[in-house]
Amino acid sequence: YRPPTTSLSNHKVFFSSPSKALRQFIQADRAFLQRIRSSGVSTINQSSLRYVSGTSSKMPPPIFPIPDERANTVAKTSSDASASVHHQMSPQSPANTSPVVDGDKFDYDFVVIGGGSGGLAASKEASRLGAKVAVFDYVQPTPIGTKWGLGGTCVNVGCIPKKMMHQASLLGEAIEDAKSYGWELAGGGDKKHNWGAMVQSIQDFIHSLNWKYKVALRDVNVSYINSYAKLIDKNHIHAVNAKGKEVTVSAAKILIATGGRPKYPEIPGAKEYGITSDDIFSLQYPPGKTLCVGASYVSLECAGFLAGLGFDTTVMVRSILLRGFDQDMAERIGRAMEESHHVKFIRGAVPSKIEEIEPRQDGKAGRLRVTSTQNGKEIVEEYNTVLFAVGRDACTSTIGLEKAGVKVNPDSGKINAEYEQTNVPNIYAIGDVLDGRPELTPVAIQAGNKLARRLFAGSKVVYDYEMVPTTVFTPVEYGCIGLAEEVALKKYGKDNIEVYHGRYRPVTTRPIAGYGEEHCYAKLICNKLDDERVVGLHVLGPNAGEITQGFALGMRLGAKKRDFDDLTGIHPTDAENFVSLLITRSSGVDLSLPQCCG
Ligand code: FAD
Ligand code: NDP
Repeated sequence: YRPPTTSLSNHKVFFSSPSKALRQFIQADRAFLQRIRSSGVSTINQSSLRYVSGTSSKMPPPIFPIPDERANTVAKTSSDASASVHHQMSPQSPANTSPVVDGDKFDYDFVVIGGGSGGLAASKEASRLGAKVAVFDYVQPTPIGTKWGLGGTCVNVGCIPKKMMHQASLLGEAIEDAKSYGWELAGGGDKKHNWGAMVQSIQDFIHSLNWKYKVALRDVNVSYINSYAKLIDKNHIHAVNAKGKEVTVSAAKILIATGGRPKYPEIPGAKEYGITSDDIFSLQYPPGKTLCVGASYVSLECAGFLAGLGFDTTVMVRSILLRGFDQDMAERIGRAMEESHHVKFIRGAVPSKIEEIEPRQDGKAGRLRVTSTQNGKEIVEEYNTVLFAVGRDACTSTIGLEKAGVKVNPDSGKINAEYEQTNVPNIYAIGDVLDGRPELTPVAIQAGNKLARRLFAGSKVVYDYEMVPTTVFTPVEYGCIGLAEEVALKKYGKDNIEVYHGRYRPVTTRPIAGYGEEHCYAKLICNKLDDERVVGLHVLGPNAGEITQGFALGMRLGAKKRDFDDLTGIHPTDAENFVSLLITRSSGVDLSLPQCCG
């Protein structure tokens, strides 16, 4: 695997200064890719490209294996098809399984609208299983004109660039930590961050992924059509590309995987002067003093990395932090961001008007006057950038769903689709367009793969939307799986829940500098009625995403508190704190930071 946090430097060599060989690769046709594969190089980078194109005779060392989707296909597909899985469709459930279909009657067996996390996974798997498949993907530019390539939200304007900017900000802190470990900066100088250089590296990396996704579709014979698609009835799709060229295709089965886009509040100046997460990752100028409006995942993550990169950052909170998450944890995150990471919070406030004082121009942010209402009072403040993170609209209103008879929930605009099948039997939906489902990339991918196997390989396995682990990548990360404390209390009753918790000192990053250590915290929520089965796991600390991913397996397998107690820790790690959580919430014992080594 490619580590998500550290991969940029490899790709910088590869993508930041296009050589002739690189251009050749980027414009490569299938034959050139085949040539790379058959040349014996196990790496794609500038030196391997020089080797393949004959400008160098030196075989490069392996860094980044050439993707070969087919290598995984058999193992992946057969393991799932043979699994006697826990989550199968019930006998009464809609039979959305059928063999590869009606090749003569329709242009395609399966047409996917939306080439993001879910659509790409489903289309490739369907094609591997023998279906004739096409994917339509088209990005409508943001109000300030930002657009991107194939791969959807996660790759272009979501998880990937977000994680890289998070990493960029952590590296800035690490420079400070490094001084405590004896590192000296040349010339004794202060650290200085170059926004443009970071954006360039991240965008280069994303372009490499866009290219890789195209090649992966071609490798499994999925037709990729870069056009905006709409249903014209339950089996026909009409699409238009950027040059106005139109196409109509027919399909036996159709998958809606059109994802979502950020909302803007309906206030004067929002679209003219504000930006969203769709713009921030490719912004051509440093954002300067920034107001992040909203208090959920996107807003807190963006505020976290912007503050870490040195920008004066404020979060405007309408009501609570991280609605839907454990509120004890949400407040801990807020405190950590405020006390240790220089993020300011304006609580109980909403913006009412944005006015331009000075326009953005030539690599420089503008100046904006923001008027807001806080507890009935008007406040006015100047910022360089206003980033709206006030939720997302599912892309369902302009894709002809009504023409095919597909119903949406009028409140959310999202599609209600049990087992990913809409009310129109041959039309399916996955990912962020689904009503009441988590909006997360791995959820869309898993559901997409499983749907394709049900549709084209007779599988009965359905995706289980329960016990989905997730992480909010704030400067001190927050990972969780299972129930929030307040939800567990409501569900099982106060007398039946015990909470084991503790603060801990992170060993991995800053034992000497002590930066943020007072916020690291782990908690297990246990159901006493079920032999202390752990129904919720929460952790606030460095690398919480990694910790949560590991324990998620135990949680899905029904781990009890004593299973955690019996587990041997790996010392010294942060995750080992979960094997020694002794203090119960009911004891009322004060949580102090433990000493190292027991
Ligand atoms: P998308 O990936 O959005 O793909 C939909 C595609 O369809 C897009 O390319 C769109 O342009 C295209 N499209 C729409 N309409 C049409 C049409 N009519 N014709 C043709 N094409 C069309 N999730 C995580 O798991 N971890 C994270 O760390 C994380 N971070 C995130 C950070 C941010 C800032 C954001 C915004 C989201 C983040 N997410 C994260 C959520 C994750 O990105 C989404 O859940 C995921 O991308 C949804 O996949 P999807 O396939 O449903 O839709
Ligand atoms: P959410 O819908 O989760 O949150 C919207 C936030 O904006 C809330 O805090 C809400 O406040 C606030 N808000 C809404 N309207 C207004 C308004 N008019 N003025 C001020 N504030 C307002 O959206 P996000 O965009 O944060 O996230 C969307 C989804 O993307 C998430 O559900 C998540 O699944 C996914 N995601 C996942 C990530 C990850 O895995 N790390 C990271 C980022 C996104 P209130 O509570 O008062 O309603």
